[in-house]
Amino acid sequence: MTGIAAATLHDVLARLIRAGGSERAEAEAVAAHLVEANLVGHDSHGAIRAPKYLAWVAAGELLANRQATLAVDAGPLVVVDGGFGYGQVIGAEAMALAIGRARTHGLALVGIRNSGHLGRIGAWAEMLAEAGLVSVHFVNTSGYGILVAPHGATERRLSANPIAAGAPGPDGPIVLDIATSATAEGKIQVARNKGETLPPGVVLDGAGRPITDPEAFYRDPPGAILPFGGHKGSGLSVFCEILAGSLTGGGSSHAASPTAWRLVNNMLTLAIDPSRLGGAHDVGADIARLTDWVRSARPAVPGEPPLLPGEIERRTRTERLRNGIPLDRETMRQLAEAAAAHRVTLPFPLAEIA
Ligand code: NAD
Repeated sequence: MTGIAAATLHDVLARLIRAGGSERAEAEAVAAHLVEANLVGHDSHGAIRAPKYLAWVAAGELLANRQATLAVDAGPLVVVDGGFGYGQVIGAEAMALAIGRARTHGLALVGIRNSGHLGRIGAWAEMLAEAGLVSVHFVNTSGYGILVAPHGATERRLSANPIAAGAPGPDGPIVLDIATSATAEGKIQVARNKGETLPPGVVLDGAGRPITDPEAFYRDPPGAILPFGGHKGSGLSVFCEILAGSLTGGGSSHAASPTAWRLVNNMLTLAIDPSRLGGAHDVGADIARLTDWVRSARPAVPGEPPLLPGEIERRTRTERLRNGIPLDRETMRQLAEAAAAHRVTLPFPLAEIA
């Protein structure tokens, strides 16, 4: 094994989150979500986040041990308030409601407002797909996560605003999970930690000039991320603001938002029970036919058929369960620093498990 075993990383992260004041179940849930993000290859939403979460808890931006409370409860229509608690807990509680309501009514529209960071949004689509549901998820950040320049502009107005969708597939969940920005901010952090450059055409500096140096993005005044696909990503991002922010009551991105001092995620989830629409037709059989059809296209690279959404994550997960999670040295240093600051005794020195 060349990386860190998932169970070891889970242990480190759970101890850290507990040291921030979380009860055991919350610390385990946060650690599990972060490790899963690393396992599927989204390091920007994995262990790298733990020191930040602890800093937010210490600053009172993120509150430990909160549960989702019902703000709207009207059959298939539900809105929960996250009370600025850990998104990993609030998200799981809201998705459990979505599963229950979709099974009762055939579909559920579940809003989450005022949650802490909801992490890798694909995790929520996966959870619903594993319960047999088809879902779409729109997320915005009504706190200080304003990072993205609208198409045609050079300064921040929107958030990274991810969209996810999931469906049960013939060989596991089909899960699309994308930020509407050309890159997720966490990936700029990862590039900075690794001392790597960014691809051209995704980030501007504070003066609105295109840059590839991640460090320049964080200077004062800070830079902006461009939307993916120009006007298309920009338009989708505006609808993340409307669906996740305006509709749920969590609010859209705005510098004058009352929550602009803390990071707040809001999410609108539409969950559909396909068995309630099928009957005369077999939804699962059609999805299976679609996956075969897509995979049968002549590959651009001989021997490498096109991948379905979620497939690359499944492959990375298998590989990282076998070989371990390759955490960069800067992330390890930050974890060690957080452990020291919170007087967390680890049963092993962090540097030695890399
Ligand atoms: P990305 O660009 O890596 O795209 C991932 C998606 O593309 C997945 O669905 C994946 O299966 C698919 N994919 C990747 N390579 C593929 C290929 N070769 N062929 C077919 N499909 C392929 O993801 P991203 O936009 O950088 O987002 C990264 C993560 O950041 C996501 O998990 C997202 O939820 C998360 N995020 C969270 C927030 C938040 O506020 N909580 C904000 C932004 C992003």
